[in-house]
Order: sequence, then C-alpha cells, then structure tokens
Amino acid sequence: MFKKYKSPNFNARDGGNAPNMLLLHYTGMQSAKAALERLCDPKSELSAHYVIEKSGKTHHLVPDDKRAWHAGKSYWSGEIDINSASIGIEIVNPGHEFGYQEFPDKQINATIALCQKLMEHYSISPARVVGHSDVAITRKIDPGHLFPWERLARDGVGLWPSPVEMDYQAAEDLILNTDALHELFAGFGYDPSADLNETIQAFHRHYAPENFQSHEGTPDQPDIATAAKLLSLIRQSHEIE
Ligand SMILES: [Zn+2]
Repeated sequence: MFKKYKSPNFNARDGGNAPNMLLLHYTGMQSAKAALERLCDPKSELSAHYVIEKSGKTHHLVPDDKRAWHAGKSYWSGEIDINSASIGIEIVNPGHEFGYQEFPDKQINATIALCQKLMEHYSISPARVVGHSDVAITRKIDPGHLFPWERLARDGVGLWPSPVEMDYQAAEDLILNTDALHELFAGFGYDPSADLNETIQAFHRHYAPENFQSHEGTPDQPDIATAAKLLSLIRQSHEIE
C-alpha cells in the first residue's frame, strides 16, 4: 500500500458512522499520475480513498474513517449521501473519453484483495458493492461494461445473477407490469426517481454486459432475461442479510 499521495479533499462522515458500502469507479483520465494529482489537488474538490493502478499498485489517499468526495449526486437503497456511506475505489483506466480498455488481471486481483479486506473489516455485504453508474444512473457510466464484475463476485466481492426456472417464470409476468418491475429495481437499490429504461441500461452495464453491448445505441427495454436476473439478485441479497 503506497501512501506517497495524500488528498486534502475529505471531511467527516455524516454521523461519524463506519463505511457500509464500496463504490467502484474508473479514473477516466489519460494516466495514473494525472488521476492521482487531480484527486490530491485541493482545487478539484475530488478524491477517493484508494486508487489502483494497472500493475495492481494501490495508493491510499484518504483515511477510511473520513468522507472522500467521489460519488457526487447519487442514490442507493434509500441513501443519498453515498460519500458518507461508502469507501471510494478508483481503478485506473482511460475510460470512454480517452480510450476505454480491458482491466488487466493484476489490477483486478489487487481490486479483489482490497475489497475483500475492507468487506471483512467493516462487515460490508456483497450486495453493497456497486459501481458509480449504479448510484448515479443518469450521470455516470463508470466503471463500465468491461469491468469484470462476474469475476469479482466469484471471489465474494459483489453479487452476480444466477437465475433459475422460477425466476424466468415470474419474469414473464413481471415484464408486462412495468410499474412492478420498476419497484423491484428500486427494492434492489436503484433510484426510483430514474426512468425505467435508463435504470435497465445501468443494470445491464453491471449485471448483463452482453445485453448492454447488443443494445448499444438503442434504449434498453424490459426483457424476460433481465427481469429474471433481477429476481435472482434480490433473492441472493435477502439470503445474505
Ligand atoms: Zn466515478
């Protein structure tokens, strides 16, 4: 863990509570150095607790018990002060603006190891490991559809859907009732005030990247496979509570 870079951009967590979620981002800048400097520049008013380089080298910029500034206007599961609730982890990648790239194995292994350590230390549930695009549906697209969420979930970091026959059966009715479907997305954590199709797009980015890619350019619509995946995730999140 490298501590050369320190960010002054933090304040106290609301209520002084311990973090209870992990929020994953990509840096979206041309280099790791540029991202680290920006996140430590008082003028940027931006920061994250951790930055993970492509090599896996991990920087600790803000103490865990402080409120770093990475989420912006966001929502998850009834919370709007996501900075107070979360630990922010920035994963170095040029992002969509500068040439979105696959995430190297070394970087993902370091991300998994850090998340596992934090989840254990703060008793954070896998259901509360999400991406910036999950909590800021209309504003953010990071860490993006190339981020290997399925691999993280295999190591207990985050959830991955594994729908069974009963989920597909229930999904057939569910997609005919879009209000009920929207409520289930909100029940899982997504912002209920966001448009349903945009919510589905955010969901695909994270939990169904193959749908996301095939739908690129056209609005994502409710479909049986998506609804079945959502039902599977809701069941998993209840099982681990
Ligand atoms: Zn972000």
